[in-house]
Amino acid sequence: MNKLKLVFATNNKNKLKEVQAMLTNFEIISLADINCFDDIPETADTLTGNAILKANYITEKYGLNCFADDTGLEVKALNNEPGVYSARYAGAENNSENNMRKLLNNLGDNTNRKAQFKTAIALNINKKQFIFEGICKGQILKQQQGTDGFGYDPIFMPDGYKKSFAEMTIKEKGAISHRGKAIQQLVDFLNNNF
Ligand code: IMP
Repeated sequence: MNKLKLVFATNNKNKLKEVQAMLTNFEIISLADINCFDDIPETADTLTGNAILKANYITEKYGLNCFADDTGLEVKALNNEPGVYSARYAGAENNSENNMRKLLNNLGDNTNRKAQFKTAIALNINKKQFIFEGICKGQILKQQQGTDGFGYDPIFMPDGYKKSFAEMTIKEKGAISHRGKAIQQLVDFLNNNF
């Protein structure tokens, strides 16, 4: 049977791998696979708003079924910063080392280390739109631990675990992560409806 083809509106190879590992019944293709190298605007002030902007851009330009995600790390003691600005917290886009350093500096010795990753997904399929959300609660570590993963993984320890996201395998992280949960909702929805 032909697998249903869906564009995942991302250029992040780590995220693509995580999602492909969870959505094996579908053919998940990336922006590069459809030759889209555009700088898609992410100008909304919420994660859901940005996910919608990205998914709509692809569906409108290419006429393809598509889903897009946007993720942010919300740190309680920092008024939920960096949130929607997680990728560019320290200025330049996606400089993880600088982002983590800035976050650890801003948090200092604060004993409230509570944080959560939040992922919003917008799915455009057959001219309809659906939204999914996943949350993973945890703590910000005092220093980096582990070398796997990406972004803020080395300084985030999910609740119930004694290791950071960067010390987990993709599978282990995917089972409990914000994106894993949001994708699981997407998978359940697709499996039940398509
Ligand atoms: P994006 O919207 O998924 O690209 O995420 C925005 C930023 O959040 C990224 O640049 C990363 O710094 C961070 N981020 C997103 N997902 C994760 C994750 O699973 N672990 C650690 N950092 C993440």
